[in-house]
Amino acid sequence: MIKDIAEVKECPDCASVNIVTSKERDQVVCKDCGLVFEPMDPETEAKFEKTHDLTMGAKPKKKK
Ligand SMILES: [Zn+2]
Repeated sequence: MIKDIAEVKECPDCASVNIVTSKERDQVVCKDCGLVFEPMDPETEAKFEKTHDLTMGAKPKKKK
C-alpha cells in the first residue's frame, strides 16, 4: 500500500513515468494510459468505516 502519494514515481498500471501528481487532490494521473490513481478514495474509506462499525456492533447508534 502506498502511504504517501508523493512517493509515486511511476504509473501503477503501465509503469510509465509520464505522470502528474496532484497533492491537492491526493491522486496521480497517468498521461500515457489516463489512469487516475488514488491511494484510498473517500467512498471506499466510508464503506470500510461502516463495515468496521457493524463488525464491532458494541455501540448501537439507533435510539428507540
Ligand atoms: Zn499508465
